[in-house]
Amino acid sequence: MRVFRRALAALPQRTATWWRYVPYDQLQAAWLPPPETGVGLLLVECPNKARRRPYHRQKLATVLSHQRHFALEAAAAGWQVRYVVASSYAEAVREHSASHGVLEVAEPAEYELREELAPCIAEGALRVIAHPGWLTEDADFDGLGGPPWRMDAFYRRVRLRTGALMENGEPVGGTYSFDHENRRPWRGEVQPPPTLSFDVDAITAEVVETIERDFADHPGRIDAARLGARIDDVEASWAHALHHALPWFGPFEDAFSTRERTLFHTRVSTLLNLGRLDVRRVLADVLAASLPIASQEGFVRQILGWREFVRHIHRRTHGMRTAPGLHPAPGRTDGGWSLAFERPWASASPSDLARVRTERGFPRPPAFWGHKPSGMRCLDHVVQAVWDEGYTHHIARLMILGNLATLLRIDARDLTDWFWCAFTDAYDWVVEPNVLGMASYATPAFTTKPYVAGSAYLDRMGDACKTCRLNPKTTCPITAWYWAYLADHADTLRKNPRMAALRRPSLAADRAAVAQAQRALAAGQPVPAMGTAR
Ligand SMILES: Cc1cc2nc3c(=O)[nH]c(=O)nc-3n(C[C@H](O)[C@H](O)[C@H](O)COP(=O)(O)OP(=O)(O)OC[C@H]3O[C@@H](n4cnc5c(N)ncnc54)[C@H](O)[C@@H]3O)c2cc1C
Repeated sequence: MRVFRRALAALPQRTATWWRYVPYDQLQAAWLPPPETGVGLLLVECPNKARRRPYHRQKLATVLSHQRHFALEAAAAGWQVRYVVASSYAEAVREHSASHGVLEVAEPAEYELREELAPCIAEGALRVIAHPGWLTEDADFDGLGGPPWRMDAFYRRVRLRTGALMENGEPVGGTYSFDHENRRPWRGEVQPPPTLSFDVDAITAEVVETIERDFADHPGRIDAARLGARIDDVEASWAHALHHALPWFGPFEDAFSTRERTLFHTRVSTLLNLGRLDVRRVLADVLAASLPIASQEGFVRQILGWREFVRHIHRRTHGMRTAPGLHPAPGRTDGGWSLAFERPWASASPSDLARVRTERGFPRPPAFWGHKPSGMRCLDHVVQAVWDEGYTHHIARLMILGNLATLLRIDARDLTDWFWCAFTDAYDWVVEPNVLGMASYATPAFTTKPYVAGSAYLDRMGDACKTCRLNPKTTCPITAWYWAYLADHADTLRKNPRMAALRRPSLAADRAAVAQAQRALAAGQPVPAMGTAR
């Protein structure tokens, strides 16, 4: 890190009188006491954390390049910055407090980090204050009752309390949700904005070189021009999303296309989850913008509703450890990497993390690691995007990756760990509720039904079927998997009239299609077309 060290050393630094530890996902100047208070900032790089799982190389590059740019920007703005590399965050905090006194930290969002720092707090090396980067309060959620918890009820409460999109005590536009208007497939009628690229400066180039060299066994491609780690890049990304994506965000929110990876989504999750973009500012900008109400409300629901809701789910279930239907036990940590690459993931150790165990299902096949295609255009297209960029939008995550994995009975813990490794915006507080609660229905903590669908849905909302070797009406097996899933979960689903399994004369063939696909995928082969496999 010679280039970075030299750049940091070249900045004049005042002498701090007290210290704040700034975790890797709190890279936000607006959350800090001003430099005039005498506060210094401790930032820590921890290569062991990076090796804990087979994280996408783009994710490692994202975290490191943003953290290093933040350190330089903070030093230039007048904070004293101490930047260390350590074998653990706790070690860095202990070592720093031994010579500089007790540090302050805003409560970490991730369970893993809270757990690691707990002894430092007990020893008196660290003092925790509230995290300033959330939009809602514990009482907004805790007053709901539950489990099960309901997002709609939470969202209404928060709208009423904060006054966001409210007029005279009523929701703007006469309803709290425009979901029913936001279900258009995209057929090319409006051109989505291009994805931004940025100059690669010397700091980012050095990070990329380090990741390519020291983390060569990690999966995925680094696209340095997409990292956009300077604060000016972050500002440009948000301005681009606000002015060019959000006007059409609502209507095409549920669409999927193989021609456009982003459509009208904003790609701000990675920046929000690192703290580089302050969610309060994002909300204020969206409320002040002149946008069609279906898009404005649709986006507000995502950041004031869903994003806050899942972090409360994480908080109330102790990182899903006490979510109904799940129980803690050590488990797999490599998301199926060792199965796909036929060698163990070096740093995965069962004692590394206390994990949430789910009913063991079919292990994640190589097709999800972009290794051997599944022969299904929808899945292969999304998997390619994931390993190219560490990103896909919500519908691709939920209705393709999550849906197909659930129908194939892929173990929900494996699925979660795969998402955690593969996406640049994945941290335990957000990825675990989304996968265990929403995509796989491993816990009924907050959803009333699994998000599963057959090929008719995928054909209607997307265009992948048009160029697939499988015909959605005849040879694609997804609908058979769907019926087999409903039949096999009939007891759980009976309470939900929309999902009550009908009696299908072809149930035996439906179940056989699942088993055939599992066998083929486990062997790294394409899924058989209906009616052709034995
Ligand atoms: C199986 C699955 C796994 C997911 N894993 C993650 C994850 O690891 N990290 C993550 O940030 N989001 C996750 N999500 C939620 C959502 O898919 C992403 O936030 C979104 O796709 C990010 O892209 P975007 O910024 O273009 O989002 P947009 O569609 O532009 O949405 C705007 C913002 O709303 C927030 N948001 C919307 N839905 C959710 C949600 N369910 N949970 C949390 N925030 C939400 C995000 O901050 C997002 O940036 C997951 C969803 C599913 C179904």
